[in-house]
Amino acid sequence: MPTIFERIIARELPATFVYEDDLCVAFQDLHPVADMHLLLVPKKAIPRLVDAKPEDQALLGHLLVKAGEIAAAQGYGEAFQVRIHNGAGAGQTVFHLHLHLLGGQQKRAETH
Ligand code: 5GP
Repeated sequence: MPTIFERIIARELPATFVYEDDLCVAFQDLHPVADMHLLLVPKKAIPRLVDAKPEDQALLGHLLVKAGEIAAAQGYGEAFQVRIHNGAGAGQTVFHLHLHLLGGQQKRAETH
């Protein structure tokens, strides 16, 4: 079963994209909890951060570099948060690795 994010990446489900390259996409969270709430998602379907392998090192670095570039492009380069939920116990609900990019006023403490 593909995850919601795989279906968004495949354009089977709609999303508001703000960035795409060969390795990742970024789109608006469906339930934003901050003025900027983007999800930065690798095209490779790694379920959780802890499932990343040594061969994913370059991809993980790419995601962090892009997180900064995308936040800056959105006007939040001076102040933003990058958040990863690893596992259900940490609040992960979609088991396809993703980075929350949060900026501006936060609407509540939790991200969901
Ligand atoms: P997690 O809790 O797994 O770290 O975060 C999953 C995020 O995906 C949540 O913030 C949730 O609002 C978002 N989300 C869930 N389903 C969809 C969807 O269909 N489209 C978009 N754009 N975001 C979604």
